[in-house]
Amino acid sequence: DKNLKTSLISEAMVMYWLGPRHPESHKGTFGHALLIGASPGLSGAVIMAAGAALKSGAGLVTAAVPESLLGVVDAGWMEIMSSPLAESKQGTIALEALPLIEGLLGRASACAIGPGMSRFPEAPAILHSVLKKAGIPILIDADGLNALAEDLNILKDHQVPVVLTPHPGEMARLTGKNIEEIQSNRIAVAREFAQQWGVTLVLKGNKTLIASATGEIFLNITGNPGMATAGSGDVLCGLIVGLMAQGLRPLDASIAGVYLHGLAGDRAAGIKGQRGLLAGDILNSLPDIMQQFE
Ligand code: AMP
Ligand code: MG
Repeated sequence: DKNLKTSLISEAMVMYWLGPRHPESHKGTFGHALLIGASPGLSGAVIMAAGAALKSGAGLVTAAVPESLLGVVDAGWMEIMSSPLAESKQGTIALEALPLIEGLLGRASACAIGPGMSRFPEAPAILHSVLKKAGIPILIDADGLNALAEDLNILKDHQVPVVLTPHPGEMARLTGKNIEEIQSNRIAVAREFAQQWGVTLVLKGNKTLIASATGEIFLNITGNPGMATAGSGDVLCGLIVGLMAQGLRPLDASIAGVYLHGLAGDRAAGIKGQRGLLAGDILNSLPDIMQQFE
């Protein structure tokens, strides 16, 4: 459709959504980001996402993780809160955790599900329940996307704004296409999926693009190949959910988050180089980047 716009993401757009804080604001002003994820061996993903949500300026951040990982996640940041979820024998989130999750959703202003969650049989049911119970925007990343790929009809029931943040491999699982088909046709594939399911779709990689539910495309040119490193996507997930918690519309939070994540990655690469760059370095560069927008 030729009438559908494709725009480059600009600094001015992001400045418009951020800008200075009101002197009378308090932490309630900046929302409460809820992260659901983690499993044995993958707790760092939630810690990284929590750090990015904090550094995005969210007022409060809660990580809800399998109960045996609570101590590990708590040790990641002094500033976060955490909530112990009932877990399976394998240490993944159990269905028995759903009532607690429902309560947490009621107190949060935005939620991300998936980082480090692992793939396990109950994951699609847990995701489905979160989407049905939530009255807040939901970001689905990582193993949340893998759960969604098991049953895309989960998206039929959503009443709230949904943001998906797949890398090309996750997009392949979501669409049944292969990675080559996706990478050679990124705009069309992302647009079609976003419109069909009524979601904001962030297709990651070199020149990450954001497709709105109405089919508009926003192309990002910040970032570098040094960001192809473990945990990089978890930082983006936390950044976007943190911005949504502060009240940015899910589409705007996705656009701003992708742009700022790339700038933080460029700053980190300037200090550490691309090969030595770790996701933690993107996180450490984030405050200097955010400061340019206040
Ligand atoms: P994930 O695979 O979930 O860890 O996400 C990787 C993150 O790094 C995404 O935000 C990608 O857009 C970013 N990234 C990966 N490779 C590149 C690249 N070659 N250039 C720019 N950003 C990249
Ligand atoms: Mg990822």
